[in-house]
Amino acid sequence: MRETCTYDVLIIGAGAAGLMCAIIAAKRGRKVLVLERADRIARKVRVAGGGKCNFTNLHVSPERFISANLKFVHSALARFPPNEICAFLKKHHVSYLEKKDGQLFCCHSALDLVHALEEECASAGVVIQTDIPIEDVHQNPSGPGFVVRAKEGHRECLSLVVASGGLSFPALGATDYGYRLAERFGLKVTPRRPGLVPLLFQPHEREIFSGLSGVSFVGEVRCGDVSFSESILFTHKGLSGPAILQISSYWRDGQTVVIDFLPGIDFRAVMRKNGSRRVEMKTFLGGYLPGRLAQVLSFHGFVNKPLCQYSEKEINAIVQRLKAFTFVPAGTEGYRKAEVTLGGVDTAELSSRTMESVKVPGLYFVGEVVDVTGQLGGFNLHWAWASGHAAGLKV
Ligand SMILES: Cc1cc2nc3c(=O)[nH]c(=O)nc-3n(C[C@H](O)[C@H](O)[C@H](O)COP(=O)(O)OP(=O)(O)OC[C@H]3O[C@@H](n4cnc5c(N)ncnc54)[C@H](O)[C@@H]3O)c2cc1C
Repeated sequence: MRETCTYDVLIIGAGAAGLMCAIIAAKRGRKVLVLERADRIARKVRVAGGGKCNFTNLHVSPERFISANLKFVHSALARFPPNEICAFLKKHHVSYLEKKDGQLFCCHSALDLVHALEEECASAGVVIQTDIPIEDVHQNPSGPGFVVRAKEGHRECLSLVVASGGLSFPALGATDYGYRLAERFGLKVTPRRPGLVPLLFQPHEREIFSGLSGVSFVGEVRCGDVSFSESILFTHKGLSGPAILQISSYWRDGQTVVIDFLPGIDFRAVMRKNGSRRVEMKTFLGGYLPGRLAQVLSFHGFVNKPLCQYSEKEINAIVQRLKAFTFVPAGTEGYRKAEVTLGGVDTAELSSRTMESVKVPGLYFVGEVVDVTGQLGGFNLHWAWASGHAAGLKV
């Protein structure tokens, strides 16, 4: 028999943001229900960071995020610094370590963090129901709050929190539900595109570099006035690796990406010093770059010959090729391979302190569904915790 249950807070989506919101709200004495369409909670947390979950970053600050309005993130981040989630892990005896640049990972497995979230939800009295496809959500015609309709019955709630995530990795259950719901309630949603995603070569570059799939090097990649110096990986379709994933979030269709294959090295000075040697360029470059990459660059970028035979003009061309290699990506590998979705519910529609809709009181949006995207390195999960926490204090 269909029945109606009433909750103070109903949360759509049992990911990082939804679960954090549920825990904080339930600890404040709210009766909380989380509805999840997948068969298990926190699927992205389970696979994040290669199964070790890069759950936060010690250097969290607004500059590490992308949004049409970066001021929006200040309040939530200030009230949920990284030590909050660290304290949560410590409380549940989950050990973690800093890998590099402030990135914190679970020592053992991301599942430890998922279990901690489950335990905390259970002890706070949060009800979680999985495998629940929602059929309809509307404002309660006979009182305050909302009615959420699913096959199993209606649920009524005073506060509705949308924590349904972004579009990336549909294989993990990503849907556009949150964006559609926002639009149905009259909220603006900014255009979405994949972020932290591999870039694709144009056909002619693919031909040149296809043999390098699997080769990586540390390079600097730049798009406009943003740059990242980290590992770059050749794939059979284009480029990936942390530096490329980072820049992909700033890249727009048609823009040029510039790569410095030898960051921190003044190659003109190196050539001046070694210009009288008989060693061939491909061998010489092999001292700076992986052998296969040195070979491809030497044969396709310029004529490979002994260093002593290059003219000044040729050296200029080589330096240009190695220090400022330009390409216009044909596109990205799309949501299938993107770690995040850029864009989302317009921050102008939400209170930065509580994540509550300005137009529709009682309706909240948290996590990736909002137009806030972090850089690579634990910032996206941090936003999920911080925005979930902010809403949890108000719902
Ligand atoms: C492969 C991969 C690795 C990543 N690694 C990291 C990392 O190491 N560090 C980091 O900071 N970030 C990482 N990210 C990004 C990070 O996982 C997300 O930004 C973060 O999980 C977003 O949290 P969320 O709660 O907003 O959304 P999600 O975690 O996506 O949760 C949303 C939930 O809502 C559910 N849902 C969707 N639609 C409905 C519906 N209609 N009804 C009910 N439920 C619904 C989904 O099934 C899902 O469980 C990674 C992402 C991917 C894809």
